[in-house]
Amino acid sequence: MTLKITIDGIPIEAEAGQSILQVAREHGIQIPTLCYHKDLTPTGNCRICVVDVAKQRFLQAACVTPVWDGMEIQTHSDRTIHSRKLTLELMLANHPQDCLVCDASGSCELQDLAYDYQVEVPKWGSKGNRYQSDSDPNPFVRVDFNKCILCRRCVLACAEIQVRNVWGVAYRGFDEKIVAGSDTTMLDARCESCGQCVAYCPTGALSDKMSYAKGRTHQVSKVKTTCTYCGVGCQLDLNVKDGKIIGVTSNPDAAVNGMALCVKGRYGYDFIHHPDRLTRPKVRRYLLEGGQKSRQGSGWDWVDTDWETALSITANKLLSIRNSAGPDSIGILTSAKCLNEENYLMNKLARQVVGTNNIDHCARL
Ligand code: SF4
Ligand code: SF4
Repeated sequence: MTLKITIDGIPIEAEAGQSILQVAREHGIQIPTLCYHKDLTPTGNCRICVVDVAKQRFLQAACVTPVWDGMEIQTHSDRTIHSRKLTLELMLANHPQDCLVCDASGSCELQDLAYDYQVEVPKWGSKGNRYQSDSDPNPFVRVDFNKCILCRRCVLACAEIQVRNVWGVAYRGFDEKIVAGSDTTMLDARCESCGQCVAYCPTGALSDKMSYAKGRTHQVSKVKTTCTYCGVGCQLDLNVKDGKIIGVTSNPDAAVNGMALCVKGRYGYDFIHHPDRLTRPKVRRYLLEGGQKSRQGSGWDWVDTDWETALSITANKLLSIRNSAGPDSIGILTSAKCLNEENYLMNKLARQVVGTNNIDHCARL
């Protein structure tokens, strides 16, 4: 059913069931938000998106108020601006003023809104930190609830996207806060360290521990790539600073996974610059230089070589095994980390080149 409404005096057609915010955004009309995220159920918590609706006594939260026929909405009336400023002031009164050293500076939605509305910390606010920073032993997620604005995006991201229900809201009034489980640690509350809650946090309350203090949004270049760990093929942004990957962030335009990543895709990148990482193929020395198989200490005597040599040795070995013991003495295991196309080629290698049906995949082990 089509409804006729006006937003800021502009006549607009909307569909029944749409929220004011949805209709406004579809028509390029900006209404500020903090707790709202398009991927999550709107809750109307933060009151930043309040708008003036004709004949309504109170301001309405645009994210949760459905449009009705004949609705007249003002998005930037004097009293909406006054209300947003007051809400921001209340948030800042309770928020540490450490933007100079905060990892989220430059990507913090609270900081941007305070700037847009020119709101400063009220003189009666800022009584110091109430919580210990870096308060949770989770190895990947850094928790600093001094910076939490109780928007509950982390609660929803964990519940609706990762379906782990780690975060909740506890206590009342000034003591209200986000807690893991029944106010325990994240891991005790069944967290699987996917970092979804970090990705949706609009401030620096939840951040990536591995990237902490290594570089802020405006200091890194983002390189879109595909996760190498499994066949889902999630897309993500590598955050690169001075030629080094210092973190991974969600790419909201990723077709396969949206903002979602698992612990491997989001935090399993430290091998890339690890000094023990193999960057060249290795073969046992006797295969290159002849002689007997030998050990060095507790391991085989490996030497670096080039791909051409390593692949020739492998092919010759497979050929000699097939010739002496038959093709079914060889089995090939492929990997979920390969592309479908690579797995298909391994199937061809097994059946048509080697001549065996002994081909399987690590996902079935
Ligand atoms: S890291 Fe993932 S599982 Fe853990 S609390 Fe955050 S969203 Fe939930
Ligand atoms: S982020 Fe996780 S689910 Fe996505 S491709 Fe990587 S390993 Fe697979």
